[in-house]
Amino acid sequence: MKRLLITNGKLVLRDTIVDGGLLCENGIIAEVGYTGDTPDDTELVDADGCYVLPGFIEPHAHGGGGYDFIDNTETAFDEIFKLHRAHGVTQLCPTLCACGEESMFIFLELASRLSDRADFAGVHLEGPFLSPAMSGAQNRSRLLPPDERIIERLEYYKDIIARVTAAPELDGVDTLARRMKCAGVSMSIGHSAADAETARRALRLGFDSVTHLFCSTSGRTKYGGFVRGGIIEAALLDDDCYIELIGDGHHVSPESFRLALKCRGADKICVVSDAMRAAFEVVKPNNTDCRENAVSSGRHGCENTVAAPNAYPNLNTVSNAYSNLNTVSNAHPSFNAAPNAYSNLNTTSTGESYLGAILPENRVILEDGVAKLPDRTSFAGSLAVGDSMVESLCQNYGLDLVTVSRMMSATPAALLGLTGRGQLRAGYHADIVLLGKDYRTNAVFIDGKRVV
Ligand SMILES: [Zn+2]
Ligand SMILES: [Zn+2]
Repeated sequence: MKRLLITNGKLVLRDTIVDGGLLCENGIIAEVGYTGDTPDDTELVDADGCYVLPGFIEPHAHGGGGYDFIDNTETAFDEIFKLHRAHGVTQLCPTLCACGEESMFIFLELASRLSDRADFAGVHLEGPFLSPAMSGAQNRSRLLPPDERIIERLEYYKDIIARVTAAPELDGVDTLARRMKCAGVSMSIGHSAADAETARRALRLGFDSVTHLFCSTSGRTKYGGFVRGGIIEAALLDDDCYIELIGDGHHVSPESFRLALKCRGADKICVVSDAMRAAFEVVKPNNTDCRENAVSSGRHGCENTVAAPNAYPNLNTVSNAYSNLNTVSNAHPSFNAAPNAYSNLNTTSTGESYLGAILPENRVILEDGVAKLPDRTSFAGSLAVGDSMVESLCQNYGLDLVTVSRMMSATPAALLGLTGRGQLRAGYHADIVLLGKDYRTNAVFIDGKRVV
């Protein structure tokens, strides 16, 4: 029997933080707050005062590390998972923006082939069934109506599609929602101009969440002088639907975040990154724009100077950087938390990238720690990842770690139907992240196996 014992950590549970050990057996949490002796045949990890949290569950990420899922390559797929895993994500929904029918099905075929991995939580199709009026940074020319033929093609991939974001006011969405529900696929309201009544109707039809509330979602609108509520009001008042909030500290104001939390509570809010290609992208040393976000983050910087001190492993070596902690039984390794000179937050990012495919029309700019359309009319995805969102929400929004942890693990697990994941609790999967006091990820375990 293979055991793992994490000692000397602060265990972030559903409602509180406690000191104590976490004993896991065969990839499952066996005891929380363990105080006994170290059993035989046990990998012992000294957390050295780190926070021990359930791994982050990410229902909405398009890319990172210089890749987007729409690249449709095995390398992109693996590298995006690797980047998010290095920041504490143990379950991830590869998320595809509207990209044209054939590209979408090429992606679904690729995802089917690569879905046999422990951290794959099912594909999230954010489009193409979106409102042109609320497309945000999505490419309007790639939007499609949900006709019978495309619904049938999607049903073929039902086993790997976890979620579809759609605008409920579009013709044909009722059929889409009904058929996807039968197929076990979760439907989410997003990029939509629906009024509150249409949103409520969609929730009755089987939609169970709202994609990035406050971003490309309708609110209070005047029709001939009469005021109507929109998706925002419907979602804040509904008792059941889950709400995604982008946790990068830019897309949702602190007031809106707190309003949603006050109305719906942490059990209904999922913090998502909506991360795009440029999140922690490593720019090549010969690129004159090598001031980019990865360097400003301090951890995955380019190798050619600027601000990548030796204390921080770059992306290609992060999984090996702590290899001496892949421990021998009963040894007592400790984590040397990285110094706090560099924030996780990409607040000084500058440069350019692409939202979706690498095409001239998809060019976006990076400034103020976020991606924007070149005309600055809209944000174009975030540069955030798991641990950086914890830092942002705790440090800048003043939320407590227990609440943030729940919105990043237990609630997304419930949304995605991932039973037995998302909490440090006996009988649950040993998906664990060790965060330093500086919110940096020091170690990640999936099913009790160390992966970072
Ligand atoms: Zn979106
Ligand atoms: Zn998105």
